[in-house]
Amino acid sequence: MPRIRVLPDDIANRIAAGEVVERPASIVKELIENSLDAGATKIAVDILEGGRRLIRVTDNGEGMVAEDAATCLLRHATSKLYNPDDLFSIKTLGFRGEALPSIASVSRLTLETQAETGIGTAIEVAGGQIEARREGAFPQGTQITVEDLFYNVPARRKFLRSESYELSQVTSYCTHYALAFPEIQFILKSGNFEVLSTPAVPDFRERIHQVFGSDLLDELVEHQKEFGRSGLKIKVFTSRPHIQKYNRHSMFFFVNRRLVRDKIIMHAVSEAYRNMLPSGTYPVVILFVTVPFEDVDVNVHPAKTEVRFKHQSYMHDSIRDAIVAGLTSDKTIVAMQSAAGSMSPYGLPAPPTRVPDSWAGDDPILNAPFSLQAPPIVLEGQPRPLELSYGRAEEAADRQTEPTYADFDRVKHEVRPLGQLRDSFIVATDLTGLILIDQHVAHERVLFENYLRQKLAGMLEVQRLLMPIVVELPPRQLVILENIIPELTQNGFEVEPFGPKTIAVKTAPAILKAGAVERLLRELLDGLERETQVMNIDALKRKIAATVSCHAAIKINTPLDETKMRWLVGELMKTDVPTVCPHGRPIILRYDLREIERAFKRA
Ligand code: ADP
Ligand code: MG
Repeated sequence: MPRIRVLPDDIANRIAAGEVVERPASIVKELIENSLDAGATKIAVDILEGGRRLIRVTDNGEGMVAEDAATCLLRHATSKLYNPDDLFSIKTLGFRGEALPSIASVSRLTLETQAETGIGTAIEVAGGQIEARREGAFPQGTQITVEDLFYNVPARRKFLRSESYELSQVTSYCTHYALAFPEIQFILKSGNFEVLSTPAVPDFRERIHQVFGSDLLDELVEHQKEFGRSGLKIKVFTSRPHIQKYNRHSMFFFVNRRLVRDKIIMHAVSEAYRNMLPSGTYPVVILFVTVPFEDVDVNVHPAKTEVRFKHQSYMHDSIRDAIVAGLTSDKTIVAMQSAAGSMSPYGLPAPPTRVPDSWAGDDPILNAPFSLQAPPIVLEGQPRPLELSYGRAEEAADRQTEPTYADFDRVKHEVRPLGQLRDSFIVATDLTGLILIDQHVAHERVLFENYLRQKLAGMLEVQRLLMPIVVELPPRQLVILENIIPELTQNGFEVEPFGPKTIAVKTAPAILKAGAVERLLRELLDGLERETQVMNIDALKRKIAATVSCHAAIKINTPLDETKMRWLVGELMKTDVPTVCPHGRPIILRYDLREIERAFKRA
């Protein structure tokens, strides 16, 4: 019995209109959703060349009878909506009846499908035109192969990014759906490289373990709450506050197991972690919200990742409270309220949150602006009348150029360290004023330039680690790592696969302490994951050098004796750019004697 029908206009017109086929990842998402709606228990995704050449999704779901196999390619043909009222209580992931025709119109698509009984059907479509159709016997389920994406729309083909970027986007969706459906087996392969493989497991916990490994799972607090009559249920896995991610890719939100990006949820998470995480860092959150279907409108956006809750503030507060309850029930957590709490793990005040708005809408899932605020650091005991005229650190970082307040030539000579402020900032003088130097970023700059010089000369010092360091990585980061292995090798990191989601690091640059290697790699990959542009090799080299230098540099809150201070200041002055650290933050603040005199009313 055929089940698919073309929606009458009155329903079709009420469906959020728009294109869903932006890039390989959006196709994979639609195809996986179809397989899930078809009741599959096994979904395999195969990708070639980041999906540009081939995307294939194979499932063992209910399949389609011959008649449906043809109908499903028509616009607004769906088996998931019958009455206008169904739109207000959508229980399936799909409902628009637009994915297959849209995909078929911009690629060469082959559909092979076999229902439980009857003969199977294969249909080939090119640019929306049916080219061939035959009957056959196939394994039960559906396989859709999408080749030569955008072959007939060159303008859109141009917008595809590098293979690794597209693959990482695909991986992101597969990871999401794998997390939300532990009872289903997912396999994602790029060529022969198995990016993700998750046999069915009984619960979310085990699925998280499969996807991310035990290191991360051990850091997650699990909490579950049911909200009586409203029918709202929240289940959440959240990280303890010492887990700090430098991008938002570790936040996974699901509403009725549909992956969503939602500002209200984002905000609730941010509120829950307020004062616990430094600004610019993010927790790991895997959140499952279950609400009655009629309390959430999913017909908001063609990609179906935005939702509208009927009771928005109730939802917000419930999510926030569930996370807080989870975190506070965990005895290992100490709230970090002091200024020290706003230090990032490597001993620096966290860089300003610069949510790369340019990639809003570009990231497949998360694009709502988001920041976790921590109290700003204040330099204590600043003499009030001295109006410090330097720009704010954020602005300086944003400018990325040499800040104007550090008028540099005048500082280059005869800098005399006087002591340290809070074991973090070197106080010094030169002929014309007072100078403050951030010891961490100063050292970072010194190391950075030495490092690049050594590397250029092919003289980078490398150490073999006593024990290989084994690091577990999420699938997306494995993909990124694959791509940067040659550059890592050149930087003295010998990295090898060590099991399906782990790598082993055998050597590292000599300036690093072994204990810093894992953190460094994670931070580097977090950073690369956040990059939107395909990184050119030069930028990548600098990024690696900057990250290595940062992890090797003297921390703040470290007492330095006079010899060390002199050495550091001397080395800093020899660098090419002593004023700005490799991440764009200021190194030196300078108070001109004239300014000081004016402040003392002596001018
Ligand atoms: P929608 O999912 O919104 O209904 P699609 O264009 O994605 O629209 O799919 C159209 C129809 O084709 C679906 O309603 C479903 O009946 C059928 N279909 C698509 N993919 C599959 C699949 N993998 N297995 C079984 N049926 C499928
Ligand atoms: Mg669909």
